[in-house]
Amino acid sequence: MRRKLVVGNWKMNGNRLANTELLAGIEAAGPFVADVAVCAPFPYLSEVALALQGKRIAWGAQDCSSHESGAFTGEVSAAMLAEFACKYVIVGHSERRAYHAESDQLVADKAKAALAHHITPIVCVGETLAEREAGQTDAVVKRQLSAVIHTLGHCIPQIVVAYEPVWAIGTGKTATPEQAQAVHAVLRLQLRAATPKSDDMQILYGGSVKPDNAATLFSQPDIDGGLIGGASLKAADFAAICRAA
Ligand code: PGA
Repeated sequence: MRRKLVVGNWKMNGNRLANTELLAGIEAAGPFVADVAVCAPFPYLSEVALALQGKRIAWGAQDCSSHESGAFTGEVSAAMLAEFACKYVIVGHSERRAYHAESDQLVADKAKAALAHHITPIVCVGETLAEREAGQTDAVVKRQLSAVIHTLGHCIPQIVVAYEPVWAIGTGKTATPEQAQAVHAVLRLQLRAATPKSDDMQILYGGSVKPDNAATLFSQPDIDGGLIGGASLKAADFAAICRAA
C-alpha cells in the first residue's frame, strides 16, 4: 500500500509573518493520515525548519543546483538544503523548465544531486496545452521521465514523480480525474519497466487542486496525493486537501 503525500509548493510567495501563521494553521488542523510537506522559498527554510522540527509536517525546497559547489552565482546546492534537513526538493517544475530553460537532462542531474544528499526529489513532468491538443501528452511526459530513469538507474525508486499538466497550473482548469489517472497510468507503466519497485512509488497530481476536487483526484488508483500551489497558501484550504488524501 502506497502512502498518500500532499506537498505545498509555496512558489515565490509568503513572508516571515505570513509563513508563521500559515504553518501554525496547518499544524493546528492536523494530524493528517497522509504525509504532508511544504516547499518554501530558500530564505525561509531555516525558520520553517525551526517551526516544524519535531512536528509531523516535513519541509523542502523548490529547486536545487545540479552542481556540488563552486562558481554558480545565485544557485543553491543540495548539500546546503541537507543542512536545513530538507526532506524534499521539487525539480523540473514547469515554471523552471519554461522560464529558466531547464532541459530534461538538467532536471535529471538535479534529481541525482538531491539523492546524493539523501533528499527526495519530487520530479515534475507535464505537457503544455499545445502538446495535449497535438496528441503528444504521453510522449512528452515519457520523454521527461526517461531522462531521469536513465540518469538515476537503480536509484529511481527513491524519487517522487509529480504529473502537472502545464495548462492546469494556476489556471483553475483541473485535469479531470480520468485525464489525470490516464497519464499516471502511463507513468506507472514506464516506471514498471525500469524497476520492480514501481508499485511502491508515489506519483502526485498537481494543477489547480482545491478542497472540492482533491478527494476525487486522490481516489484514482495511480494518484498518490498532490502537489499544491495556490491552495497551499491558505491553511484551511491546504488542510482540507490534506484531509482528502
Ligand atoms: P496550482 O500549482 O495548484 O496553483 O495550480 C501547482 C504547482 O504548480 O505545483
